[in-house]
Amino acid sequence: MRKYKKSKPPSRWVYHCGILSAFRRQLLRVAHREKHSAWLRSFLVIGIGFDIHRLVKGREFILGGIKIDYLYGLEGHSDADVLLHSLIDALLGAAKLGDIGDLFPGTDPSYRNISSSILLKRTLDFISQHKKRFKVGEVDSIVFLEEPKLGKKKITIANNIARLLKIPTDRINVKAKTMEHLGPIGHKKAVAAMVLVVAE
Ligand SMILES: [Zn+2]
Repeated sequence: MRKYKKSKPPSRWVYHCGILSAFRRQLLRVAHREKHSAWLRSFLVIGIGFDIHRLVKGREFILGGIKIDYLYGLEGHSDADVLLHSLIDALLGAAKLGDIGDLFPGTDPSYRNISSSILLKRTLDFISQHKKRFKVGEVDSIVFLEEPKLGKKKITIANNIARLLKIPTDRINVKAKTMEHLGPIGHKKAVAAMVLVVAE
């Protein structure tokens, strides 16, 4: 009867090599993931902005660069566009370039009643002077106000912001929220806005 040679069990060396290569594969996987997240970090940046202005009589109510019909308007040195101011701060935050007060001091008479759309354009120019690459990806925002109801105006505002930022409208979202009659916003004494920007 023919004798079959019994195959040898793997040597201890081969066994350890197997463990080592599995360990190496795992290390490479982690390194790749780390590299990938570092790569993501080097491209994606975020910024937040918040602003609040008092509601007063005798001023136009400008929100996101759009005139809103209302009995009151927002008080401020410029046109007091609370949403665009918040957006400017979020952009500067994403670019790590300070805040709106650094860029446009409230004490500077040249900014009296200036349109915040102009301030936004100057902010984008300022960022592009300091950053080799800065591209706005997404914008989400909340306007805190008791009155007036924004309704379809939210879309108009989003379209206008998209135009000002030169990005597609579907990258912008504008939400409105009442304060359930609580605090100065709930008592129609002020309007606030919060903006989040993701840029690359
Ligand atoms: Zn402001």
